[in-house]
Amino acid sequence: MTRIGRGRPWVPAVMSALVPGLGLAYLRQWLRAVYWFGLAVLAGSTGLPESLVTAVGATQRTASAVVVGLVVVASVVDTYRTALFAGDSAADDGPTARCESCGRSVDEDLAFCHWCGEPFGDANWDGGTADGGGAKGHE
Ligand SMILES: [Zn+2]
Repeated sequence: MTRIGRGRPWVPAVMSALVPGLGLAYLRQWLRAVYWFGLAVLAGSTGLPESLVTAVGATQRTASAVVVGLVVVASVVDTYRTALFAGDSAADDGPTARCESCGRSVDEDLAFCHWCGEPFGDANWDGGTADGGGAKGHE
């Protein structure tokens, strides 16, 4: 069960195509996920200036759909780039914490192994510190 799109950035990108920002939430980029989702909602609920809409010969509904579409595309691009960057930094950055239970490299920001779900005790792993956050259980 691969949960993180390392080497497969299109996985979160597709998620963001379905729901703007969803792929970023998947990558645990919470603020950016909220940002893109909010932007899409805003784009869908805020009408464009009537003069602009008529100038391009569109209806208000069509114009909104186009704007939302642009936001979705932008969020997909941002998600894709974020996934690529996340994969690179995970591969290059110094010592990596490993799960004592399954032995796979894990994210130090989490309180549990995202591969097997095993919670981290301070004594249970050998990389970095289990800083903050607390046990949030499964996502
Ligand atoms: Zn594990």
